[in-house]
Amino acid sequence: MKNADLSAFSSLLMAWNRNFNRRAMPWKGIKDPYKIWMSEIILQQTRVDQGEKYYTDFIASYPTISQLANANEEDVFRKWQGLGYYNRCRNMIVTAKFIHTENDAIFPDDYDSILALKGVGEYTAAAISSFAFNLPYAVVDGNVVRVLSRVFSLHASYFDATGKKAIQALAQTLIDKKEPGKYNQAIMDLGATICKPQQPDCSSCPLTLICQARLTDSIASFPIKKERKPLKERPFHFLVFHTTSTIYLTKRSGNDIWKDLHTFYCIETEKLTQKLLPDFINTRELNKPLVLTQILSHQKITGYFYLIPLQTATSLKSLNLISVKKTAINKIAFPKLILSFFENNQYL
Ligand code: SF4
Repeated sequence: MKNADLSAFSSLLMAWNRNFNRRAMPWKGIKDPYKIWMSEIILQQTRVDQGEKYYTDFIASYPTISQLANANEEDVFRKWQGLGYYNRCRNMIVTAKFIHTENDAIFPDDYDSILALKGVGEYTAAAISSFAFNLPYAVVDGNVVRVLSRVFSLHASYFDATGKKAIQALAQTLIDKKEPGKYNQAIMDLGATICKPQQPDCSSCPLTLICQARLTDSIASFPIKKERKPLKERPFHFLVFHTTSTIYLTKRSGNDIWKDLHTFYCIETEKLTQKLLPDFINTRELNKPLVLTQILSHQKITGYFYLIPLQTATSLKSLNLISVKKTAINKIAFPKLILSFFENNQYL
């Protein structure tokens, strides 16, 4: 890698940013660390176009970190519905409470303190530090890895420890020390709008004359891809107990998906047998289930929904379920699979 290419990289990128980059996002250019943090937590596993309305809604509902810290948690989870990866929401609440009570509601202003916040990793800490406080910490996300891998034809993989370190070190070398926030936004914008995963627009790219992948006609080889593991299959059998006015739910706990969200009584098993069912239900009485699926990052959930109408709820006592009026289910936070079930069942 030539030094000339290294210095040309940043100046070409910054010139493109000044003259041609028109990418608009509601949080772009904002200096308030709370708003930047909120946008970055939402964007951790969410596309920008999907995250924008959630960001706008969250900031409108909780304009300050103290308002978020003091909010009703069920309301916050409900607002998060549809974004998935609920750990992000849980960590966001913990961090808001921490800053509100332990730090006089003042967002920390140095990289290490920001990195120490729950739910904040290296990328998010670099983004907040550079956007809000103009500190020279390079962001490294999928867009940045793609641009750097192509321009410098990097054979390092971001998915192994050595490769990750090498890419982070290169990113840190390249950052514009005077305008780190603008530089970080520029490289991510270039990756999102020009150097896209498929069919990059090399003719509009400011780096086209120094891009090794383009010059050697090997763009498709970069970045080095992650090896995909097969998804873990998880069959969930949901017993949907309900009376004419009430529905019965359980709140998930433990170290598993959907923690703190509500589902129906759930039995995870390949085959639903009489032994696994509560005493008062007979397998032969179960109707054919509605089957819905949801793909998570490493798991495929197949939900089998059995409707079980009841005259009274006395038989449910031993199951420790939560009774909720059907008219009040829109106040409860559910995972996407359960929301899909409600969309498929107008009777509820
Ligand atoms: S020249 Fe093409 S492949 Fe290279 S950085 Fe620009 S858009 Fe990406």
